[in-house]
Amino acid sequence: MKENKAAYQVVDECKKEMIHLWEELVTMESGLFCKTETDAISRRIASFIEKIGGRTRGISMDDAPDVLIGEFGDMTQPFVVLTGHMDTIFKKGTPEERPFRIEDGKAFGPGVLDMKGGIVILLYALLALQKIGYKKYPIKVILVGDEEVGHQKSSAISAIQKEAVGAKAAFNFETGFVDGGIVVKRKGLYQFMVEVFGKGAHVGNDPENGRSAIKEIAYKVLDIEALTDWQQGNTFNVGWIEGGTVPNATPAYAKIVCDLRCENPDTLPQIKQSIEEVVKKTYVEGTSTKLTPLIEAKAMKKLDASMELFECVKKISEQEGFGTLYPKEVGGVSDSAYFTDLGIPTLCAMGVQGGRNHTIEEFAIVETLFSRTKLLCAVLLALA
Ligand SMILES: [Zn+2]
Repeated sequence: MKENKAAYQVVDECKKEMIHLWEELVTMESGLFCKTETDAISRRIASFIEKIGGRTRGISMDDAPDVLIGEFGDMTQPFVVLTGHMDTIFKKGTPEERPFRIEDGKAFGPGVLDMKGGIVILLYALLALQKIGYKKYPIKVILVGDEEVGHQKSSAISAIQKEAVGAKAAFNFETGFVDGGIVVKRKGLYQFMVEVFGKGAHVGNDPENGRSAIKEIAYKVLDIEALTDWQQGNTFNVGWIEGGTVPNATPAYAKIVCDLRCENPDTLPQIKQSIEEVVKKTYVEGTSTKLTPLIEAKAMKKLDASMELFECVKKISEQEGFGTLYPKEVGGVSDSAYFTDLGIPTLCAMGVQGGRNHTIEEFAIVETLFSRTKLLCAVLLALA
């Protein structure tokens, strides 16, 4: 197609600029709960969108970075959503410690894959399409700043869902997989904390009066892990344990923080019931236990309409020489869940391809920054 070729040419001409923007975004802080810094990234992206003819607005969040909206075209018509997040899981100062660098065709740095590369992809696909006069569908960009903390302190989820009304399709530029997997389904997540309150005592002079919170929580760790049901696809992880102070005092306090990945969201109420039963059961007389829910993230549903969209993207990718794609189902959560929740066909992990995200070995394959941008152009041009 002539239009495809023209868009690819723009991308090819912009390769250096794309790397520069990638470096700039990785260098800018946007770690956990960094509102001021992430809002600065948001303004940087907004200025890019405005420069290429889009309109922008911020939806302000009190305790979290604002949600950035970019719009192209008449939003009263069915539109396409390009979405993702601006935050990373890394603490403040990480970009300075581990600056953006490219080595042997791979880019490194905090958030290089998850998902600052994805932001560059969606921005440059928009730039290329604007340059060739794309008019087919209105496009809405939705970028959030607190995805990595599950929107704990903000109303970003309701903002996403409000903005998504009227969308005919959504593409999320999350971490792309090297194996060509495009995510069509994600498990749901429930994180919770269990605290045990016992009674401290001198273990030499007064051992019989101690009530060990550690002993009690040890039983609970095993009971919670035992709730894992591989067949149902529900897996528990007690990922963090803390308690006690010194070896010569009965521990008066202990806590665990747990994570559940849940295949079928309909079973969650029943699973929660099982967790509560574990919490209620006491092994060490005289201890008490408290359960605190922390984060709950919806599952991304595998919609028939998403699978149709996938088939279309797969065909384009093969025809245009961007490789074979396959539909992938994963346990990691993303905001794509909030689109499928509304019945909007959604494909996730459309971003730059790489691996080891959420670790210091996170990398992205530089060439895929360009190929995925071109793929997005081709998909938007072909979308029925
Ligand atoms: Zn991510």
